Amino acid sequence: MFASRDSIRSASAVIDIAFTDRLGGVSLPPFDTLDLSRFRGDRGDELESNLALVADAFGVAGFAGMRQVHGADVRVVDSIGLATGSCDALVTAVADVALMVRVGDCAPVVFADVGTGVVAVAHVGRGGLAAGVVPATVATMRELGAASVEAWVGPHVCGGCYEVPAPMRDEVAAVVPTSYACTTWGSPSLDIGAGVRSQLERAGCAVRDHSRCTVESPDLYSHRRDGDRSGRFAGLVVRRPVTDE
Ligand SMILES: [Zn+2]
Repeated sequence: MFASRDSIRSASAVIDIAFTDRLGGVSLPPFDTLDLSRFRGDRGDELESNLALVADAFGVAGFAGMRQVHGADVRVVDSIGLATGSCDALVTAVADVALMVRVGDCAPVVFADVGTGVVAVAHVGRGGLAAGVVPATVATMRELGAASVEAWVGPHVCGGCYEVPAPMRDEVAAVVPTSYACTTWGSPSLDIGAGVRSQLERAGCAVRDHSRCTVESPDLYSHRRDGDRSGRFAGLVVRRPVTDE
């Protein structure tokens, strides 16, 4: 169910972070079994069943999600459900509103400021990296009062696997130089993780690396590896209020 989990705590809040894998759901091959993709039709209540299983395991009522488009728009939400319009990052200051970002090679990034309890998720592929969705998310959190933002970078395709045409590498590296990379076989590639980390550091965030390569990990979905036969996994975050017992 979870590729990794983490938790941070202050006197007033506990913030839980998780990245799902492809285990523990109800999806049939080749999408077995915890496919959280929004894009496959004709599968009955499979998506709702998987979302309910994840919500139950994560201890929440449901998730705020988004229609992701590889841009840099950030939406502030205060309730669960699909955010209006399209965007690639969600931010909330509301306790118990869990956020979800769905990926299958792009980097899922989860953000939290334990002082104010402001949390966020972002979807970062090469488009979002170049468009600046990471700094835009941090800026929106700061507008809501966040002072000390930590960021968790989840599983994504690594620079050794993410082959792209040379002009595409040049285009993205012109904006984010740290993303310039080569595959393990020597051809042009992009290192999305390195690019995200440099943007986070420049934005003053502490970075917690929860990444591993989706292409090289059979327990994770990878569009690079499996094409249209790939599902999506998710990055999750929620702030829970601390109650005095
Ligand atoms: Zn790899």
